Amino acid sequence: MAFEGLAERLQGTLQKIRGKGKVNEADVKEMMREVRFALIEADVNLKVVREFVKKVSEKAVGQDVLKSLTPGQQVVKIVQDELTNLMGGEQEPIQFARKAPTVIMMVGLQGAGKTTTTGKLAALLRKRHNKKPLLVAADVYRPAAIQQLETLGKQLTIPVFSLGTDISPVDIVRQALEQAEKEHHDVVIVDTAGRLHVDETLMQELKDIQELATPDEVFLVVDAMTGQDAVNVAQNFNETVGISGVVLTKLDGDTRGGAALSIRSVTEKPIKFVGVGEHMDALEPFHPERMASRILGMGDVMSLIEKAQANVDEEKAKEMEEKFRTQTFTLDDFLDQLQQVKKMGPLDELLKMMPGANKIKGLENAQVDEKQMGRVEAVIQSMTPAERTTPEIINANRRRRIAKGSGTSIQEVNRLLKQFNDMKKMVKQMTNMQQKGNKRMKMP
Ligand code: GDP
Repeated sequence: MAFEGLAERLQGTLQKIRGKGKVNEADVKEMMREVRFALIEADVNLKVVREFVKKVSEKAVGQDVLKSLTPGQQVVKIVQDELTNLMGGEQEPIQFARKAPTVIMMVGLQGAGKTTTTGKLAALLRKRHNKKPLLVAADVYRPAAIQQLETLGKQLTIPVFSLGTDISPVDIVRQALEQAEKEHHDVVIVDTAGRLHVDETLMQELKDIQELATPDEVFLVVDAMTGQDAVNVAQNFNETVGISGVVLTKLDGDTRGGAALSIRSVTEKPIKFVGVGEHMDALEPFHPERMASRILGMGDVMSLIEKAQANVDEEKAKEMEEKFRTQTFTLDDFLDQLQQVKKMGPLDELLKMMPGANKIKGLENAQVDEKQMGRVEAVIQSMTPAERTTPEIINANRRRRIAKGSGTSIQEVNRLLKQFNDMKKMVKQMTNMQQKGNKRMKMP
């Protein structure tokens, strides 16, 4: 995940000042020196660092802070707010056209993740905004790029408009727009050609497409892992073709976060989405506030809730509640729950979204727990349906067989059965307590 080093350093620095009953200018100066180092180490643009430090310092030594009852916490709040501002303040939503179709142009250098992001974006717009997208393959220089988009389209069952490589991109886009109208697509996403470097011909081609299609959004796709190069590319594209937003890809592999922290400030264009993996669902709207909060170890409960809402089936959740209430849940339900949690993404990423999770020792080993989940699944899957409903019938012989069938050990089978039993007992106690409580409430 991004910002690992920065998060650690900033949290360490702010921890020192947070609890202070008195803060003087020297304290702030010392803190800002450390903040400055942390940002530089995260590969943040130097000019951006300078401005950030200046802003925070001015606010932090203001009279209302120094005289307040909790100056340490106020300083932390200032850092958090400025970090949020640095990344753009509010989340910037996608601009849909008043009159359909909305046209989105994807631009960027080769390898940045443009084609992948085109597919991801279409999937996201369909899932979250109920749109019916048409993808357009306009990279006529690389047949492989057209093929790649077509493959993604098949995988997502989203149509791809392509006319091969013997025709100009402008003509392709013109015909694609006609087709979109005929087939009632409300979003058209154009995957344009990439190059290894920014060059004249490419820029002219992009301008020509722009002139014809008058896109509602021009998204520049840049690779977060390239750090300040990504910032330079963004500046370059913004000055020559003009962009409306940035999609920062490969944030999952970028441990420093310099591009994410600099792009907005340097280009004055918002980061609208971030790519966080190779899967087609690994694209997320970028929320500066939540990101700042994560960097400072304050968690990101909003994203966690959204993930749960997007992945957990509401009907199932209700069913589960009922089963808990009537104490009729089985190991099958337990398995179901495990699988729902897994759908939300890697466990360690989820844990990092919880406030204070950075202080939990051993979180680095969360990966191991994921393996553990897999083993638990295997154990349950090796049981018969009757055993899953009434685990009490599993005798020693069956425990041995289940361990063998699932490639685990008898101890692991025993542990799971005990845990399940404990859970049942706990739920029973809770239900009893609740019922008693309810009775009491009803008494006159
Ligand atoms: P293009 O040349 O700009 O069209 O780049 P591609 O879409 O072909 O992507 C280049 C490589 O980056 C592919 O292997 C993608 O799977 C990978 N990629 C794209 N976005 C992400 C991301 O957000 N995270 C990770 N880990 N890989 C990504």
